Amino acid sequence: MAIRMGEKILDLLFPRFCLLCGRENTYLCPDCFSKIKTYASPFCPYCRSRSPEGTICPSCKKYLTGFVAAGSYKDKRLKEVIKTFKYKFVKELANPLALLIFKFLKENQEVEFFKNPLNFLIVPIPLHKRRERERGFNQAEEIGKQLSPLLKIPIKTDILLRRKNTKPQVKLKKEERKKNIKDAFIINPKIDISSLKDKKIILLDDVFTSGSTMEEAAKVLRDRGIKEIWALAVAKE
Ligand SMILES: [Zn+2]
Ligand SMILES: [Zn+2]
Repeated sequence: MAIRMGEKILDLLFPRFCLLCGRENTYLCPDCFSKIKTYASPFCPYCRSRSPEGTICPSCKKYLTGFVAAGSYKDKRLKEVIKTFKYKFVKELANPLALLIFKFLKENQEVEFFKNPLNFLIVPIPLHKRRERERGFNQAEEIGKQLSPLLKIPIKTDILLRRKNTKPQVKLKKEERKKNIKDAFIINPKIDISSLKDKKIILLDDVFTSGSTMEEAAKVLRDRGIKEIWALAVAKE
């Protein structure tokens, strides 16, 4: 009861409105959430061929084993939700974004880590300390915290560190992206990475742009003996 009262008072002080239709008392109403389109099935992010298990085809494979995104960044509603979450700092939107991934996976139960979550770990793509301080949170980590109990896969946020404060990939041209992200990640020196050698890692981010960020992070993990690394994103650009 006390919590409810607190929520009511907060609603009066800071009224919430659905960011897409303006309905009161929510940041994203169920109607607008249900209108966000999810992909029909997983596909290879590089050649777009269908892949029900979510694995990247052998001829396109670099460091990532598999790739899953719930929807397209071209979907205006999804883009608006992600932008409000990240750039207007509406942390609460992590929940519907995690639910969108979960919805996609329930419709695509052949995806390997959904079918057999054993030994998988969710590792959100880290932000540079300075960017995280400015935003007040790491968007990938917030989505990961909501997603972890849904998938029954633990989340680990202290494996990767970002040492370069890179420019946002979305704002760069294709050829600039690779250069921008190169050597951006390191393994946290305080972590005993050899204790994780039997783990499979799911790198999580809000948007999968060209794949350079995920591949770069996967490369660092692979260099240290992690054999299976997946990329999971809410949206594919
Ligand atoms: Zn709405
Ligand atoms: Zn391919």
